[in-house]
Amino acid sequence: MVLAAKLVDALKAIVGAENVLTDAFDLSLYDADAETLDTASPDLVVLPASTEEVAAVVKAVATLAPTLPVTARGAGTGLSGGATCVRGGLSLVLTRMNKVLHVDAAERAALVQVGATNVSVSRQAEPHGLYFAPDPSSQIASTIGGNIAENAGGPHTLKYGMTTHHVLALRGVNARGEVVAVGGFNRGGLDLTGVVIGSEGTLMVVTEALLRLTPLAAKVETLLAYFPTVRQCGQAVSDIVAQGVVPAAMEMIDNLTLNAVEDYLGLGLRRDAQALLIIELDGVEAGIACARAIVEKCLHENGLLESRWAKNARERADIWKARKTSFGALGRIAPHGYVLDGVIPRSRLAEAIEGIAKIGERHGLTIANVYHAGDGNLHPCMLYHREDQAEVARVISAGREILHLCVELGGTLSGEHGIGVEKLMEMESAFGPRDLEFMGLIKTSLDPDGRLNPGKVLPQLKTCGESGARPLLRHQQLSC
Ligand SMILES: Cc1cc2nc3c(=O)[nH]c(=O)nc-3n(C[C@H](O)[C@H](O)[C@H](O)COP(=O)(O)OP(=O)(O)OC[C@H]3O[C@@H](n4cnc5c(N)ncnc54)[C@H](O)[C@@H]3O)c2cc1C
Repeated sequence: MVLAAKLVDALKAIVGAENVLTDAFDLSLYDADAETLDTASPDLVVLPASTEEVAAVVKAVATLAPTLPVTARGAGTGLSGGATCVRGGLSLVLTRMNKVLHVDAAERAALVQVGATNVSVSRQAEPHGLYFAPDPSSQIASTIGGNIAENAGGPHTLKYGMTTHHVLALRGVNARGEVVAVGGFNRGGLDLTGVVIGSEGTLMVVTEALLRLTPLAAKVETLLAYFPTVRQCGQAVSDIVAQGVVPAAMEMIDNLTLNAVEDYLGLGLRRDAQALLIIELDGVEAGIACARAIVEKCLHENGLLESRWAKNARERADIWKARKTSFGALGRIAPHGYVLDGVIPRSRLAEAIEGIAKIGERHGLTIANVYHAGDGNLHPCMLYHREDQAEVARVISAGREILHLCVELGGTLSGEHGIGVEKLMEMESAFGPRDLEFMGLIKTSLDPDGRLNPGKVLPQLKTCGESGARPLLRHQQLSC
């Protein structure tokens, strides 16, 4: 797209010339998120520093180039292509807006700019005995804006819930470039905070958030357990929850992944185990002692090979390192990994795992598995070589089959990574036409020209004509 010089000049006047990128090399750095199967370069990148600048940028686009898409972007760690400018346009990068503005210990709340990283919020809250509970494994890099847009979860979602359970209010910019606010302490009105959270940048650009902070637990205990089969490990997870214990986290990795982690870090993990389970209990001493007895009983009844409770903070950190480096460690097996994000009912974990293995065999693919086992959120990671086009095609087909399997088992398409462009074609397998229409009505009423992050989440929106469409890569056949 040839950009009007008038628009570029107007944007430079708003954010400063150094914060408007149009050079082809610079643009190529923003052509994907962490889901690298779908790439598309933006036409320009703009890095604003305040809510007012964001509003002025969106207003300038609406006035001078009304069909130009605007796609918000945080750290670009998304795993569904959400921040990728599949229809070109303006990539609005919010990482300069990275301040934790205020921590209110009495109200247990923090006011932050959306470019602040997830971990920076907890760091600033810690001296007050508080933290921000959603903890995606990407928390060192991912931004609060990205967490809100994707309704991010993490290992501790099982007990503490998703991002949506920890956001009190939002301020941001609508598709017309006006500053709007939703939510707040007991303000009443429609609960639009929940509508915006998880909307993947398609309804508004969020610029500031008022976050709920959670008191740090009095005591935390972390367990590492090994099982001879994935099925037995999955059953132990189901039994623990059925017994009424809700651990802070229950995370599982398979034999392939644990061996990759052991090759990488040499933590002394047991290589012959088919499944490694991490369980974290938190709360007050008496409650933990009671939960610990139930957990140990469930593990032993399901063929436990071996287990150990962390004796100190260092051992606890090592246990979590095994989980949090899983995807990185898989890079030792193949240069590229495509991480899926299906959800199934916890009780059908074993069936899902066996089904995924069969899909992998049928397509001749190596699939490693990492699970937020407690809440039935699966992350099969297909290992591949991007230059091998036939293998890439098999990865995409197998990915679709795995998502369909999750839906067939009574689950859904995404636990935390969002739909983005990656799962657009699968939406109709999980939602009926009326459900999609209902969502579409919200989108079209808030963004009638389809300016904000077009080509994401909702498959049948106006499609090509709306915004100078360019073909979607692997989704070309969808709409145009
Ligand atoms: C190694 C690794 C581990 C991960 N682990 C987890 C995990 O445990 N749990 C989990 O939930 N996710 C996880 N993710 C996925 C990813 O980190 C999350 O989705 C995260 O919330 C994305 O944040 P981001 O700042 O990188 O957003 P981006 O990738 O930049 O953007 C994601 C989406 O948010 C929109 N967006 C960004 N900022 C705004 C804004 N201010 N206003 C409106 N829309 C906006 C974008 O348009 C896009 O649709 C992981 C990713 C990696 C690479």
